[in-house]
Amino acid sequence: MTDLIQASLKELSSALAQKKISSVELTTLFLDRIEQHNPTLNAFVTVDRDKTLAAAQAADAKIGAGGMKCPAAGTAELSPLCGIPLAHKDIFCADGWRTTCGSKMLANFIAPYSAHVVDQLNAAGMVMLGKCNMDEFAMGSSNESSFFGPVKNPWDTGCVPGGSSGGSAAAIAARLAPAATGTDTGGSIRQPAALCGLTGLKPTYGVVSRYGMIAFASSLDQGGPMAKSAEDCALLLNAMAGFDPRDSTSLERPAEDYARDLDKPLDGLRIGLPREFFGAGMDDGVRVAVEVALAEYRKLGATTVDIDLPNSSLSVPAYYVIAPAEASSNLSRFDGVRYGHRAPDYTDLNDMYAKSRAQGFGDEVKRRILIGTYVLSHGYYDAYYLKAQKIRRLIAADFQVAFKSCDVIMGPTAPSVAFRFGEKSADPVQMYLSDIYTIAVNLAGLPGMSIPCGFDRDLPVGLQIVGPWFGEARMLNVAHRYQQATDWHTRMPEAMK
Ligand code: GLN
Repeated sequence: MTDLIQASLKELSSALAQKKISSVELTTLFLDRIEQHNPTLNAFVTVDRDKTLAAAQAADAKIGAGGMKCPAAGTAELSPLCGIPLAHKDIFCADGWRTTCGSKMLANFIAPYSAHVVDQLNAAGMVMLGKCNMDEFAMGSSNESSFFGPVKNPWDTGCVPGGSSGGSAAAIAARLAPAATGTDTGGSIRQPAALCGLTGLKPTYGVVSRYGMIAFASSLDQGGPMAKSAEDCALLLNAMAGFDPRDSTSLERPAEDYARDLDKPLDGLRIGLPREFFGAGMDDGVRVAVEVALAEYRKLGATTVDIDLPNSSLSVPAYYVIAPAEASSNLSRFDGVRYGHRAPDYTDLNDMYAKSRAQGFGDEVKRRILIGTYVLSHGYYDAYYLKAQKIRRLIAADFQVAFKSCDVIMGPTAPSVAFRFGEKSADPVQMYLSDIYTIAVNLAGLPGMSIPCGFDRDLPVGLQIVGPWFGEARMLNVAHRYQQATDWHTRMPEAMK
């Protein structure tokens, strides 16, 4: 039992191929764990046992048709992911499934089609376990803003799991799912991965299609994998990435095998350490864990070099102009007319719009819509929105200069380990600062990941790895070699065993 919940995707893949276990059996194991632990954790908002088991049966039929060929070895046409269960963040539309985006606005919305990512993972034969809780419309860093209530961190249920992909993170950390999807606009894959002791990857902007992924800030949003290890993330990204003509920002590039370089030695790797990421503001326990991880990298053959990202202190203020501006425009579609919540009582059309939006959206979403509308308004556009766009360009240029002297950049993912419920929710600026190390990466469109690198006060610490555009394979290699030498990524919360 513990073997299967701790197994890597590759191990699950060969167990399925060798018929040691069927997808129905494996899926049932995880569905039972969800039933047991979800009442405490609140990681899933929708589970549909029958639908999930039907998908598992279909996967078993595919595996059966594949004979005894071992897909993990890459010899069969069958995807190595066939028959493996996974959970989706509830921001991804899935045909026939309720898709809420953590909001009352969409609490009863049944998606009439699937996101590209969901289609791709279904086509690979992965079995969807259900939809994971999240901050409302992906706005938050603690999962306290969900209409469906907060998600608990499996490492300490008095603490937040991070956000906005907190349900996905809690589900994997508690071993209710072997892997999950997430989305990252300013840190929402990496920060919850850090706070829950997982590996999470935000790809280069445009690598994963945003079709069917409910939009928050379109120029920043990017879907990506969350799992226990870098190797698992590589296999998932292989299925998630790729050109999709339905997303105008999807990049048309030749397909890549993101697992191709996993085992490459790290000799000669140059790691850039931004001075700005190692200054004040980070907890001592986080600093110690990150420094020990860097020492491990030096043992593995890497060298470290100090670099500067001089405009990075402007990333949070620039983000909180750009992201709300885009959100205010994206969320204007929720007007109570075509789908989503409609106020039961109203006097005329304007009143219906106003009441539906007032009732359907929570406080944080309203705050963002107000900020976004303000910074885009005629009198303030130049002072705020245009200025923020200029800063965004400077931040991207800083990274380009930095990557001349290093191959990857490392630092903490978040300034602290998981914090307690209520600790930051009363002060939005404190909450926004949780993403101080992650946001610049989104503004620059770069790939970023978080891997577990130790503990502070018995809670997991995340190490962030940032690469140049399309550096995913290299970053996964850098993460994988570390995970071969350490076992942080295999740790699971005692209470979930
Ligand atoms: N915490 C950030 C925000 O609230 C980032 C969220 C995200 O990446 N979706 O905007």
